[in-house]
Amino acid sequence: MGRYCIKVDMQLCQGHGECAEEAPEVFAIDYETAVYPRVRVLQSRPDSSLSGKVEAAAKYCPNKVITLLLLDED
Ligand code: SF4
Repeated sequence: MGRYCIKVDMQLCQGHGECAEEAPEVFAIDYETAVYPRVRVLQSRPDSSLSGKVEAAAKYCPNKVITLLLLDED
């Protein structure tokens, strides 16, 4: 499995938290933001061992704001 570069459209993230449930090593919810919670990306280029979890996070994000760019194949 390859390794991803992660981008999140912060304008459209609404802090639902599904991403953090699927991949807690990569995503956390920041409750300190001004209006409502939003995601915080802990690792923008996580190890390929986390790629399955990252794919699930992108798949289950209700707003579809997580974009994955494949960097390399193992
Ligand atoms: S699941 Fe999507 S909308 Fe929800 S916090 Fe994560 S990135 Fe934001």
